[in-house]
This record gives sequence, C-alpha cells and structure tokens, in this order.
Amino acid sequence: MFKAELMERAAKFRSAQEDQSSHPSACPALVLNADYTPLSYYPLSLWPWQTAIKAVFLDRVDIVESYDREVHSPSLDMKIPSVIALRQYVKQSEFPAFTRFNVFLRDRFHCQYCGDASGNLTFDHVIPRRLGGKTTWENIITACAPCNMKKGGRTPKQAHMRVAMEPIRPTSWQLQQQGKMFPPNYLHETWRDWLYWDIELEE
Ligand SMILES: [Zn+2]
Repeated sequence: MFKAELMERAAKFRSAQEDQSSHPSACPALVLNADYTPLSYYPLSLWPWQTAIKAVFLDRVDIVESYDREVHSPSLDMKIPSVIALRQYVKQSEFPAFTRFNVFLRDRFHCQYCGDASGNLTFDHVIPRRLGGKTTWENIITACAPCNMKKGGRTPKQAHMRVAMEPIRPTSWQLQQQGKMFPPNYLHETWRDWLYWDIELEE
C-alpha cells in the first residue's frame, strides 16, 4: 500500500472518530441528586441526552452545566445538558442490595485471600456451606479461582489461608466511597467538579 493511501485512510479514520465524539449520543448527562451529589459513582449515574432533555422539559431536573453541542428541533435550539440535578431528593436506602456486583465492589475487585485482581473472580463462602455457612454479606467474599479451588470445602483456618478484610455488610455510603476509586475511562470536564473534589482535597 502506498504511503499516501495510508495517510488518507488514517485521516478518514480520524475524522470518523471526531464525528462520533461530537455526536449527541456521546453526550450523556451526569445525574446529581437534589443535594448536588452524584446519584451513583459506580456505575456512574449517566443518562442519555434524550432522557436528560425530556426531564428538563418535565421540570424534574435543573441544568447545572452544558456541552457546547446543540440539538435542534423546529421550535428550539438547545445545548445538551452535561450535568443535571434532580429537583426532588431521592433518598438512598441505607444498605445496598446483596448482589454479586456489590460484593465485588465492597472487596474492590480483589481476591480476599491473595490480593489478586487480574484473574477470574469468584465468590467464596468463608465458612463452607456444608459447615452451615450462610450466603450473606458476612460470609461471602471475593476470591480468585485458584484460591477458591485451593480452599475447597474448608474454613480459612483449616486451609491455612488468611482473609484480608473481615467481610461486613456495608452501608450504601461505604459502597459509594468504594465506587469513587473506580472512575470511568471517560470523564467530561464539566463532571469533574461534581465527582471527585473531596478526594483531591484530602491530598
Ligand atoms: Zn486468590
């Protein structure tokens, strides 16, 4: 292939990417609660632009910040909201649901025996079921597949394995704090002020 052709292809590819990034579908709105804290950190509370604009017209949200990009309709031109805040406060339940995802999040996606975070993560009953161990926050931990195999149907003591952190039932607030440690790959500049400022202040 000729160099010129390669360059042309590269240019085409670039412009296609640029087009995509300026497309409304790449402009989600960060959703804040009525107290201007994010509804959720992980996954980050984001709405597609259509949902955000609809909520604006239904008076359910206030626009806090906007993208430069506009959408047009016969009756109006409007900048796409990049940060919106709910008018009505949504009370978060005190305790999060007991789900696979939330257990992983509590354990920061690390095997609680060896600390590995790269492998295939599974769940382990600290006290095995055959010994009466329950499937609860206090008895389920994240474990990599090799550790899970190694431990088998034994207690950690029997298997000579140490649990890194005593498993607890976290509060929603605690889980939110964990979620802050996993910022998404893409953060629009207008989101930053609403997301991680308290972490930076601690430094
Ligand atoms: Zn492990």
